[in-house]
Amino acid sequence: MRVIKEMRSSLNRLFIFETEDLFRVEAVFYKGERLCVSSQVGCPVKCRFCASGLLGLKRNLRWNEITSQYELLKDKLPVKGIAIAGIGEPSVNYKEVLKAISFFKEKGLKITISTTGFSLEGFKELIRAPHNGLTLSVHGVSEEVRKKIFGVEVPLEPVLSELKEYLKGVSSSRRKKFQFGYLLIKGVNDSREELSKLADLAREFRFTVMLMAYNEVKGLPFKGVSEKEYEEAFLFLRSKGVRTTFSNRFRRDKLGGCGTLTIAREV
Ligand code: SF4
Repeated sequence: MRVIKEMRSSLNRLFIFETEDLFRVEAVFYKGERLCVSSQVGCPVKCRFCASGLLGLKRNLRWNEITSQYELLKDKLPVKGIAIAGIGEPSVNYKEVLKAISFFKEKGLKITISTTGFSLEGFKELIRAPHNGLTLSVHGVSEEVRKKIFGVEVPLEPVLSELKEYLKGVSSSRRKKFQFGYLLIKGVNDSREELSKLADLAREFRFTVMLMAYNEVKGLPFKGVSEKEYEEAFLFLRSKGVRTTFSNRFRRDKLGGCGTLTIAREV
């Protein structure tokens, strides 16, 4: 694994890596402290809004290819935490992801994970892993909306049941490490009806909703909401009694925004 290119915006730094068999993955250093790393080359979930899954899954990364993204950068970046939220669905490659988590923990790094729960077997393991935060990327609650978002079937019900079962036995401080992620896409999942369903779910689980603004991807037909619509959705969830967090400017940056990483960037 080697770094073949670095790109910078005023907020983030994006690194393109090449594997020994000449595949490419990307990692983003954001907020001046966290490195968001990839867990697969491509992604089998093929979210329709996301550049990472456009070409499907090429292969899993081995654990040391996940950790190499950190190892190759650690001397020049003040990395304090790792987000396993770059290219790939970590639940599908959970065995290698768990080994990488152990490595990162030994280095004293904080670990956060984002997953759709696409592999239920992997999801069960990841929720139990020694992470410092796990975001279940929901993006849509009703079947109808989820079909528009995910390129493959990602049933929500079994994932929620698994999570509910696990949470029964945990302390309240551990429960606080879980949240729902929701990427707001114009005309797809931003209706009040859909947001009400999300609010019901968040209240049931007592989870925070990380409400993310969509960064448009060239060539894909999805649009982000306006600033005003974004604020309205945020206030709507708050009015329903849901603790909601706003995308920070680092997440909204054109380099490294959710769904913008790719295995096929021109270099
Ligand atoms: S958003 Fe995540 S799960 Fe969906 S295709 Fe992109 S990398 Fe895969």
